[in-house]
Amino acid sequence: MDFNLSEEHIMIRDAARDFAQAELLSGVIERDDQEKFPTEQIKKMGELGFMGMMVDPKYGGGGMDTISYVLAMEEISKIDASASVVMSINNSLICWGLEKYGTEAQKQKYLTRLATGDSLGAFALSEPEAGSDATKQRTTAVDKGDYYLINGTKNWISNARTADIFIVIAHTHPEKGHRGINAFIVEKGGKGFVVGPKEHKMGIRGSDTHSLLLTDVKVPKENRIGDDGFGFTFAMKVLSGGRIGIAAQALGLASGAYERSLQYSKERKAFGKEISKHQAIAFKLADMKVKIEAARHLCMKAAWDKDQHNNYDLSSAMAKYYAAEIAMWVTTEAVQIHGGNGFVKDYHVERMMRDAKITQIYEGTSEIQKIVISRSILRD
Ligand SMILES: Cc1cc2nc3c(=O)[nH]c(=O)nc-3n(C[C@H](O)[C@H](O)[C@H](O)COP(=O)(O)OP(=O)(O)OC[C@H]3O[C@@H](n4cnc5c(N)ncnc54)[C@H](O)[C@@H]3O)c2cc1C
Repeated sequence: MDFNLSEEHIMIRDAARDFAQAELLSGVIERDDQEKFPTEQIKKMGELGFMGMMVDPKYGGGGMDTISYVLAMEEISKIDASASVVMSINNSLICWGLEKYGTEAQKQKYLTRLATGDSLGAFALSEPEAGSDATKQRTTAVDKGDYYLINGTKNWISNARTADIFIVIAHTHPEKGHRGINAFIVEKGGKGFVVGPKEHKMGIRGSDTHSLLLTDVKVPKENRIGDDGFGFTFAMKVLSGGRIGIAAQALGLASGAYERSLQYSKERKAFGKEISKHQAIAFKLADMKVKIEAARHLCMKAAWDKDQHNNYDLSSAMAKYYAAEIAMWVTTEAVQIHGGNGFVKDYHVERMMRDAKITQIYEGTSEIQKIVISRSILRD
């Protein structure tokens, strides 16, 4: 076992850290306040290779491993979780899914644009009646010979306004249950494709979350991903990898809030000494440190499993579950350590606490992760 990062890993981590400090920090409070998507910043992230980190360079990607992706996600999330969710969806749900399961023609047409950040991707699985139970898809894709006609409503779709390439999950053979579901590459702008109003959210307010209304949207047959009926397995596979990205997002929120709290506790004085010298505060910092290190190890193990081509369903669920739980706890304690200053926007930790909440909800709630984990251990 080697817990050291390679020189390349350190370089990638530092590049993400420098970018986040230089380009994301200023304006992060305003973007949150005004629910403003980080358009310019995401464009630069594409230019720096952060939008298709793990994609083969022959398709315009960075050819990096999942450890590199976790390191970069943590650094970007320390500063701006609204930017990191865009990065996470594009890398894990869209680029990885297309590279792993797409045809060569799909990769040439779509992956090359997505990996460089020239186009943004969105993943449309959730529906008003199909959240945790994603098998209950009501969106239909009717086979019309050389094309499909898609009808339905999708909910909570991140990047929906900004993305131009969507992966849409829909039922083709409802009588076959989840084995009748397909995944389709759908380009925005076609007839019948309507992006609904923006959701006004508690956290990650800089990200774009909208519903999608699909009415007789015509999708060429060659845009189906995998064999007929592969869509549900496709969605579960990409979400398993996606959870590593969201775990790293949660880790970044926790470590960012911890770093701010450590610094603040050495500067703020109460009862004649720095608050870090009060044991109650020092112990909070100790608990934060331990939980963050444990979450980091789980994230790295899941990333390593993926890089080794091991089954990573269990390790990614454990990483996502634990990192999300501790992100919520650490960011709440960070607000406490900052006292009244923690409750106002200028000190960042209140935003981090609001942002952390979503990591317990999307890409499978904490309860769903516990179902994945318990099923896996009870099967062994
Ligand atoms: C900001 C944001 C961005 C999102 N982005 C996307 C996106 O890009 N693409 C996309 O497809 N979706 C996206 N989602 C949707 C997200 O993945 C779902 O909200 C999530 O999966 C939960 O589904 P739900 O909201 O329908 O909750 P429900 O499934 O209704 O769950 C409600 C509660 O019941 C619990 N519960 C449900 N079933 C069980 C069970 N069997 N056992 C125990 N507890 C259970 C849940 O854990 C939760 O606490 C996003 C959501 C948000 C809020």
